[in-house]
Amino acid sequence: MEKCEKCGAEVSHDDIYEDNGLKVCEDCKLEGITPPELHPYFSRVKKTDPETPKQ
Ligand SMILES: [Zn+2]
Repeated sequence: MEKCEKCGAEVSHDDIYEDNGLKVCEDCKLEGITPPELHPYFSRVKKTDPETPKQ
């Protein structure tokens, strides 16, 4: 068994992928190609929209 270094899921050796030097499961590998606007990190960054008044 291999362990996904992103989500910690245990997957068989055949289902492990490499992503930026990390061993990841298929799900995480697919997440890596998720459009930026759906990624939590980028949705945080998007909150710096100039139209949003700062509280
Ligand atoms: Zn994973």
